[in-house]
Amino acid sequence: MVTFLAGGTGTPKLLAGSESVFPPADVTVVGNTGDDVELGGLLVCPDIDTVLFLGGEILDRETWWGIDEDTTETHTELQRLADAAGLEGGPQYLDDEAQTSGRELARWRRFSGVAEFMFIGDRDRAIHVTRTGLLDEGHTLTEVTETLADALGVPWRVLPMSNDPVATLIHTPEGPMHFQEFWVARNGDPTVDAVEFRGDATATDAVRGALAEPVVLGPSNPITSIGPMLAVDGIREALAETTVVATSPFLEDRVFSGPAAKLMDAEGYEPSTAGVADAYPFADAFVLDEADGTSLDRPVVRTDTEIESEEDAERMARAVAEALEVAGR
Ligand code: GDP
Repeated sequence: MVTFLAGGTGTPKLLAGSESVFPPADVTVVGNTGDDVELGGLLVCPDIDTVLFLGGEILDRETWWGIDEDTTETHTELQRLADAAGLEGGPQYLDDEAQTSGRELARWRRFSGVAEFMFIGDRDRAIHVTRTGLLDEGHTLTEVTETLADALGVPWRVLPMSNDPVATLIHTPEGPMHFQEFWVARNGDPTVDAVEFRGDATATDAVRGALAEPVVLGPSNPITSIGPMLAVDGIREALAETTVVATSPFLEDRVFSGPAAKLMDAEGYEPSTAGVADAYPFADAFVLDEADGTSLDRPVVRTDTEIESEEDAERMARAVAEALEVAGR
């Protein structure tokens, strides 16, 4: 058995081709939920959904989010209506009281659905309607995720990092904003002063059980994909106890994609493979790119870590398996 900790791009890319090395029936994927938002009353879990859509073979693999060839009628109509009504677009936070009242899933991540600042396809939306409905009926996010995974035919076990809500907030000179405002609405442009994970989340028994197995940190963003998990009560402690292999989303100081460098810098880590190793003191071994000359104080397995195809993912998965062996010794 092996457990992967996943954000929404790097780790899913690694999973998509790893079947021959890590049989799906033996794999648990723990997904970040710090990026989640409630938009127009619907709970959207972007990182979990990427894993679910990948496993269900419906993921749009150009963007690594959303459903391939999804239609857009509802989203387009929301934009048209807002335009016609002269309503403001962009992220519209609900007021302070609404951020923490009502449903358990509230936690400083509630946005009005007017003009819908995140793009949500029609079939994608059906997932959020079903998820939110099941939560309203009293099921936990862990149960709901399992139900959705079954419905989509996902071959791995998929667990949210916690049943408790967490909001990743980016503090900027303009004030705090949710990660999705920073990334989706503002293109990651604002200066980052600090990153906050708001909410008191505890690891579920399911996550604790999964973390008793060897753990792989895919090449995900250490601050906003893995960071929220490390802030969940019980997860960092569990990682200290088990065998952990970490991969790098960097080649030395070059990031493959996304805002990881800027966020690491703001949080006091060197934006590089060396900084990733500092952020993961519990990791027992690393998988780095063969062109990455970073020397670390822990064992390293090297391979080409650029993942553009399933063959690339398989090669990287083999390196991860080798690193797990080295780390477990
Ligand atoms: P997010 O939720 O979309 O931010 O996704 P993740 O945190 O899971 O993944 C983002 C990270 O994946 C970025 O920091 C990238 O550098 C890394 N990444 C993307 N493509 C590759 C790749 O081909 N190889 C490696 N090693 N890392 C990658």
